[in-house]
Amino acid sequence: MTFQGSGPLGGGNVSAGGGGGGRMALGGGVGLIVTIVALLFGVNPGQIMGGDPGSAPTGASDQALSEHIANCTIEQANSDDVCRIVATTVSLDRVWGSLMSGYTRPATKIFSGSIATACGAGTSAMGPFYCPGDKTAYFDPAFFAQLKQMGGSDGPLAQEYVVAHEYGHHVENLTGVLAKGQRMGNDGSVRIELQADCLAGVWMSKADEGPDAMLEPITDEQIQTVIASAKAIGDDTITGSSANPESWTHGSAAQRVRWVTTGYSTGDPRRCDTFATDDL
Ligand SMILES: [Zn+2]
Repeated sequence: MTFQGSGPLGGGNVSAGGGGGGRMALGGGVGLIVTIVALLFGVNPGQIMGGDPGSAPTGASDQALSEHIANCTIEQANSDDVCRIVATTVSLDRVWGSLMSGYTRPATKIFSGSIATACGAGTSAMGPFYCPGDKTAYFDPAFFAQLKQMGGSDGPLAQEYVVAHEYGHHVENLTGVLAKGQRMGNDGSVRIELQADCLAGVWMSKADEGPDAMLEPITDEQIQTVIASAKAIGDDTITGSSANPESWTHGSAAQRVRWVTTGYSTGDPRRCDTFATDDL
């Protein structure tokens, strides 16, 4: 259990996506596909699903999911993955709204199967992702179980870290860091991803502070679940090798742990400037 308090969440800015498989923009421009792949949470889709992402089933019960989202309460956020995503986005908007002048909240879509986005077709096999073109974070809650299978954690704070990481990409989009990093190839991608981890850590440090805190005080045990997940999605963990770091797109396990920890221990987004150091 991580959320405190009670009452309705109002759905935040979260909606049900998908269900439009037939209209999906498959075969979109290569540039669009690259954009979306570069922003993956840290997962090589082929290694998780093995199959053809284009054949993934589409969500058939958007209406039920929409109602589920709209009716989420804080109490449910402690037991239900969909409501946990909703509550986390509400907390993230609060924290970033207080940390960043000019902050505007992103949209969040929860889907299963496949979904059309401004960045091209998205599928569950990609893992969670953020599309700068529509300022939207996309989540399939089934990813949490996959992350656990990969050696990560599906504990509540570990799930919230996943959401906070995608919000980190939104913050990067607002600051211009995302566009800057995308012009830099793999090195830029690693810096973008590590900064998103750091910004997720900043959220964790703030989310349990002050009179508006939505999280109960975070425990060391919960932090360990985040670290386990950050390790599980390191490029060297996923490829089983520390060779070819120049091919990495998200950073090593050690780098991901270091940056999420930096964000958490400082609570200061200015400490997340992964572009200003040669020591990632
Ligand atoms: Zn990412």
